[in-house]
Amino acid sequence: MNIQSMKELIVACDSEQKNIGELMLMLEAKNSGKKEETIIGMMEERLIKMKEAVDNGIKDRSAAPSGISGGDAVKMFEYTTQGKSLSGNYIGDAMTYSLATSESNARMGVIVATPTAGAAGILPGVLFSLKKNDHYSNKELVMGLFTSSMLGYVIANRSFISGAAGGCQAEVGSATAMAAGTIVEMKGGTPEQAVNATALALKSLLGLVCDPVAGLVEVPCIKRNVIGTSIAFSAADLSLAGIESRIPCDEVIEAMYRIGKEMPRTLRETALGGLATTETGKQVKDRLFRKKM
Ligand code: SF4
Repeated sequence: MNIQSMKELIVACDSEQKNIGELMLMLEAKNSGKKEETIIGMMEERLIKMKEAVDNGIKDRSAAPSGISGGDAVKMFEYTTQGKSLSGNYIGDAMTYSLATSESNARMGVIVATPTAGAAGILPGVLFSLKKNDHYSNKELVMGLFTSSMLGYVIANRSFISGAAGGCQAEVGSATAMAAGTIVEMKGGTPEQAVNATALALKSLLGLVCDPVAGLVEVPCIKRNVIGTSIAFSAADLSLAGIESRIPCDEVIEAMYRIGKEMPRTLRETALGGLATTETGKQVKDRLFRKKM
């Protein structure tokens, strides 16, 4: 079985009587020849690495080597711990854990690319928020990672997942879409609802350009991850409420591909446009460049 579209994914879930995560696990076992328990164990190792990045990030006030990021996860952790988050517990915690992971990435710590390093904060943010607020077990989070994997697999095969290829819509957009579908499945939604949430999240980020200041995956990347978690929860809420994307998910992914193809090179991770070429962006680049001379 080779799933090429979200439409095929929904049909396969129905015929196999599995949810998206279970189907991904079954296919991975078939394709790799490994036992399902072995694959679950391998995925749990990734989950543990994700958790370590979150745990380190919420304690670490140090700046990244560039000096342009770092310390914000601690601020957000203190703020949410005081019950001040206007976004509520799910999103407030997801924002905190996302910041922690993305700041760990900027400090050259170990993260799990989901689907890329630049967008590595969104999925752990959402998963560990669900764990904290709904007490999911590690096994349930691992199954969530299989759900995300399947959604990311389809997006990657039909479009792009990297900023250099298709802009930030492909990177933060794909990660947010994967997270939205995963939330829905973890909250008991159907595969159709999970795919619908994927569409709702992705179409909200279409056209987002990749414009990292000084070419570093920090500004605006870290905060885009944070905002991605709130979009993921919003899209999941819409879908679980029975609200449908007017444009089917496969067509949203195709639109993302076409937009990425039309996006100029200056807005695809070259740091030659967008925020990278603002006055402040250029000053940061000059300062970092001079430091290295
Ligand atoms: S701006 Fe570019 S480098 Fe930064 S997260 Fe988005 S795609 Fe990745």
